[in-house]
Amino acid sequence: MANKIQMVDLKGQYLKIKDEVDAGIQNVIDNTAFINGPIVKDFAQHLSEYMGGCHVTTCANGTDALQIALMALELKPGDEVIVPAFTYVASAEVIGLLGLTPVMVDVDYDTFNVTVDNIKKALSPKTKAIIPVHLFGQSCDMEPILAFAKEHNLYVIEDNAQAIGAVYTFSDGHKAKTGTMGTIGCTSFFPSKNLGCYGDGGAIFTNDDALAERIHMIANHGQRVKYHHAVIGCNSRLDSIQAAVLDVKLRHLDEYCKARYEAASYYTKQLKAFDPEEKYFITPKELPNSTHVYHQYTLKIKNGKRDELKNFLAEQGVPSMIYYPLPLQEQEAFKTITRAGEALDKSRECAYSVLSLPIHTEMTKDVQDMVIKNVINFFAR
Ligand SMILES: *Cc1c(COP(=O)(O)O)cnc(C)c1O
Repeated sequence: MANKIQMVDLKGQYLKIKDEVDAGIQNVIDNTAFINGPIVKDFAQHLSEYMGGCHVTTCANGTDALQIALMALELKPGDEVIVPAFTYVASAEVIGLLGLTPVMVDVDYDTFNVTVDNIKKALSPKTKAIIPVHLFGQSCDMEPILAFAKEHNLYVIEDNAQAIGAVYTFSDGHKAKTGTMGTIGCTSFFPSKNLGCYGDGGAIFTNDDALAERIHMIANHGQRVKYHHAVIGCNSRLDSIQAAVLDVKLRHLDEYCKARYEAASYYTKQLKAFDPEEKYFITPKELPNSTHVYHQYTLKIKNGKRDELKNFLAEQGVPSMIYYPLPLQEQEAFKTITRAGEALDKSRECAYSVLSLPIHTEMTKDVQDMVIKNVINFFAR
């Protein structure tokens, strides 16, 4: 079973940085500063430098990051927050949790991301914020979204859980990391994310000094001074062991992004050679103004063959995953709390046709060839 193909090879990745990671973890244990140890501050500082100098507040997970972002913006029950219908549930769950109203908008079929045109259709006098999700590792087309938000006085919270390290280029040529363009950016350090720890973790980004202070306070029981609570907050912390792991992995993040990109390019080249006219499937589309860090390599399978292909691959020992099988509008939990929107057809089409292939930082050509061969075999039968 040693060569079993995996969706993500966290063990292989760990073995390459084992000495650094083990030393970092041992150091935390030796110092017993398990919560708010110096390494948490160091990591936040290094992450800030990596992201281009924004404020960084670390927290317990990516879902908390989104929740704290919404709390910091002081939205009120009934306020509407625009969110894509095709995303991981967390992006919308926090909206409902705070008594706000998620208003779902359709995603673009080619990129899986929200577009300003779809956002425009969802605007109402109650709209207060937009949560663009940089799904699967590529930035939403942010320039028009930011312009629209500015025009209508809306906050923008980027859900950057899947795209840390991606870079967006504005029309004037200036570049920004995803997660640093909106009012607030959020990310997750869940183990399988592109920058993942060995447990749970998350972070919140902003360039606004006052907001950063507020975010920090909310993540820490609403206190600025210990035992003096200015607002209702929560308890959301990144622990020192996770920070020690992340501090090591951050140094490798660009190389990890590159490895994922190369693996994705190889998939696309081989798969397109087999199906140049997209008779059977559609390979991921890359935007000219964003890099792609391929958190997932996601095909759209045509002619209703997705589930059959998935089963076929599984029989051949090739894992694949469906991210995500239902659009939000078809989730039981969201039916009653959402202002009825448009048809959301593309989100539905995505949910019913997507299939993600194994991709990670330790991919070899041999493994990829196995995956590709089996995909081709299925359609060539
Ligand atoms: C993983 C993820 C989250 C939530 O992160 P957790 O750390 O699991 O809470 C939120 N949004 C998206 C798009 C994600 O992929």
